[in-house]
Amino acid sequence: MLTIGCHLSSAKGYTAMAKEAEKIKANTFQFFTRNPRGGKAKAIGPKDVEQFHLEASRLGIQKLLAHAPYTLNACSPEEKVREFAYNTMADDLRRMEYTPGNCYNFHPGSHVKQGTEKGIEQIAELLNQILKPEQTTTVLLETMAGKGSEVGRNFQELREILDRVKLQDKMGVCLDTCHIYDGGYDIVNGLDEVLYEFDQVIGLSRLKAVHLNDSMYGLGSHKDRHAKIGEGKIGKEAMIRIINHPALRDLPFYLETPNDLAGYEREIAFLRSVRQEP
Ligand code: FE
Ligand code: FE
Ligand code: ZN
Repeated sequence: MLTIGCHLSSAKGYTAMAKEAEKIKANTFQFFTRNPRGGKAKAIGPKDVEQFHLEASRLGIQKLLAHAPYTLNACSPEEKVREFAYNTMADDLRRMEYTPGNCYNFHPGSHVKQGTEKGIEQIAELLNQILKPEQTTTVLLETMAGKGSEVGRNFQELREILDRVKLQDKMGVCLDTCHIYDGGYDIVNGLDEVLYEFDQVIGLSRLKAVHLNDSMYGLGSHKDRHAKIGEGKIGKEAMIRIINHPALRDLPFYLETPNDLAGYEREIAFLRSVRQEP
């Protein structure tokens, strides 16, 4: 069965998200751990979590994906910003243990004139300080569009970060379809080739989640502007191939398309209707 959901607001807690997911026929979802621009996280209510676990098992909701705030930059030249990244991620990972065994996704960061090499080192350093052998959460590096000085603009850069992390089994990758298309990977005309390259450079076993987004701009544009499924340059046919591809079909898919709940519901229904079950 297709595991698909979308980005939901975490403002009202976990149980509220499960109910929203049910409404739009999603069987997973993504959420921000706190305000996407950073700041203090809302306290986790143990009652809410308990209720959520009941709802989740009733609805078959699994593989939650938490998303770190956008302002988190592990490779900023400013120490204060790196410190914020450390504190935020450490706190987020503590909070994730209320819902064990899920994934936590973050944007590797922007090196801001320090150079990619320095950026990669700082990101790995942060991860080495934060990851704990006892954690049950897998931390995912997101593939980026290569806007500005973003690190993670290609598979090699992610591999270089992963290579420097000591607790390898706590790490994985989240593939964002809009980002890699904007980054120059032609998933429209060469999905097999792109996934082969991913496997060669990073290893498909490291791929844990897919952000399913169409792109407003073209191949290699480095823009990072998401479009609704079928309304961007990637298009419907390519999306259908993506959710059915043998290397991807069992992964959880998360929509981050510009939609309200009704729009997400329509996209989920469409994607379920074009899913080919063996
Ligand atoms: Fe993201
Ligand atoms: Fe994304
Ligand atoms: Zn994006």
